[in-house]
Amino acid sequence: MDNNNDVFPGDKVAIEEEYLASEGTFAKDGIVYAAQIGTLVLDDDECIAKVISPNPPNILKPGDIVYATVGDIRKTMATADVLCKDGVSRRIGSETYGTIHVSKISPNYTDDVSKELRKGDLIRGMVTSVKPSLQLTTKDEHLGVIRSYCGRCKTELVRKGKASLFCPKCERTMPRKLADDYGDVVIE
Ligand SMILES: [Zn+2]
Repeated sequence: MDNNNDVFPGDKVAIEEEYLASEGTFAKDGIVYAAQIGTLVLDDDECIAKVISPNPPNILKPGDIVYATVGDIRKTMATADVLCKDGVSRRIGSETYGTIHVSKISPNYTDDVSKELRKGDLIRGMVTSVKPSLQLTTKDEHLGVIRSYCGRCKTELVRKGKASLFCPKCERTMPRKLADDYGDVVIE
């Protein structure tokens, strides 16, 4: 017997007398409904109804490597908007507004966020926590700024040494927490 078919959220998929709600389903007044788009599976052994999503949501978790743009620079932290998870092209299905505390930016002690990151910088970061809020770190050598443009003239900045960037047009040098592959990164 073919028990599989595609359902949409809110579709009636079973009655509780026969199947209990499980993964991807919920029950109300004795009726089991789909909670997500996916394939309905009525499991006769366990007597449960579940809806299996073909694309499980792309949820951020601690340890994930992400790409983000730096937003506001504040006294003790920078905000960052996560664009994507490394190696996953699908949209992120969880909170993408994160913060990087000043103690999590660089392996060296720093008390000035603006000497490490600037608004608009593209960074590679690692998720350190997702609850109660999304927090990132750029401490490791492979983490940090991977692309940046001059705040004055918008020219792409070039690496100068281990921890600074240079604008060839304005001829000025600025400190940064750079990833070890700054300037060589291609993101699909
Ligand atoms: Zn410039």
